[in-house]
Amino acid sequence: MSAPQGPILLTARWVVGHENGRHCLYENGEVVFEGDRIVYVGHRYPGQVAQRRDYGRALIGPGFVDLDALSDLDTTILGFDNSPAWKKGRIWPETYMKQGPYEMYTAAELAFQKRYAFAQLIRNGITTALPIASLFYRVWGETRDEFLSAANAAGELGLRVYLGPAYRSGHTYVDAGGKIRCHYDEARGMAGLADALAFCDEIEGRHNGRVRAMLSPDRIETCTPALLRASAAAARERNMPIRLHCCQSRLEYDLVLEQHGMSPPEWLQSLDFLSERALLPHGTYVSGSRHIDRPGRDLEIIRDAGASIVHCPLVSGRHGATLESFARYRKLGVNIGMGTDTWPPDMVLNMQVGMMLCRVADGSTEAVRSEDYYDAATVGGADALGRPDLGRLAVGAKADIVVFDFSHDRNGQLIDPIQTLMVSGSGRDVSQVVIDGRFVMVDGRIPGFDARLAQEQAQTQFDGLVARYPDRTWGHPPAEQIFSSSYPRPARSPS
Ligand SMILES: [Zn+2]
Repeated sequence: MSAPQGPILLTARWVVGHENGRHCLYENGEVVFEGDRIVYVGHRYPGQVAQRRDYGRALIGPGFVDLDALSDLDTTILGFDNSPAWKKGRIWPETYMKQGPYEMYTAAELAFQKRYAFAQLIRNGITTALPIASLFYRVWGETRDEFLSAANAAGELGLRVYLGPAYRSGHTYVDAGGKIRCHYDEARGMAGLADALAFCDEIEGRHNGRVRAMLSPDRIETCTPALLRASAAAARERNMPIRLHCCQSRLEYDLVLEQHGMSPPEWLQSLDFLSERALLPHGTYVSGSRHIDRPGRDLEIIRDAGASIVHCPLVSGRHGATLESFARYRKLGVNIGMGTDTWPPDMVLNMQVGMMLCRVADGSTEAVRSEDYYDAATVGGADALGRPDLGRLAVGAKADIVVFDFSHDRNGQLIDPIQTLMVSGSGRDVSQVVIDGRFVMVDGRIPGFDARLAQEQAQTQFDGLVARYPDRTWGHPPAEQIFSSSYPRPARSPS
């Protein structure tokens, strides 16, 4: 990976700069960086440069900040046309739990999928990632060892990451009668937190500060109060981000209400969990939304604590839900960052889906504009991390830069560049990615990553996982019964 000496100037038809606290557009603009920092954004750089790269009909902008970044071979897609989740291997049956859950991937496979996923994030213009992966195919939580190899993969590929192995003190399961229940093992949760903290202390600041630490207690309903309190205290002490899935389903909201007599945000507040360090995917099931018929101040609690909602419109939309609405949350003053969470890890697609869902939810085209979503995917995420040096191309900010190539014939007629991105852009338009001043993707290629070979390995690994689904699916039906076919598949006649 090249780390050239001297200032490098990038130019294109459009450059997204940042002035007076918000993005601005420079037509035929220039962005100059030296080392890991932006030194100039504007129209005509007055100084000498070591290198000049002209991308022509393209948009140069800040890299995206992905607060719930897909970091495994996504199993959520298997549920796309297969529900309910508890019958389709998304919740462990009691039988699997009792016989002793096992790791469905080897250590090498776990390492491979992180590297594969990190490369996909870069290809989609994501320059800062907070990885998320499913725990359904794990014995329990993620481990320090596998995250050390994830830190290496991020360092080697050049991705900026916040890493913390996911841990939990329990999980839901389905009993023989099909009822969803909870199992807790508090000691195991505390051991997970200790393991995570050891990892955090070990990797914080590696690779010129591109690898940072975070805490990832899994989901609100899988954590005991003691684990959440201890986690929040540790995050406060080390001043690092802490992410917790909450307000993401009706089942979760009802479970927390039933167990604690409070809504998820009310309960988190009572535990002193919420702060400006807290990142909360997905925030869709809150009081005042169509999903929850209970009065309350869920959003106000999150806002007043300075916590951020992590909005993942694609995965929420596929599950028939969305924020109600993105525009209303913003008007209330809740900080919103974005996450990809599911395949494809395409931030552009997420913004497009989010915009449409917001307009549907509010019944108005005036509810939201392209720049509102672009803000959320850039400065919204950076604000959530307390990083004024990310999510914007401004003097002194980190040189995390993405080029969208609009020179090919798939985008149609160009209008305003951000509007073009929302109308017809795609993560596949990303041609160049610079992170921390290093060219980590050039002309669509990531040095040291063979996309075709990785694709083959990913498919083989995923097929192996799918074949093991019957072991952890309620009633243990064969895979063909768990996963439906779109159309009948007539048998091949013998020839
Ligand atoms: Zn998520």
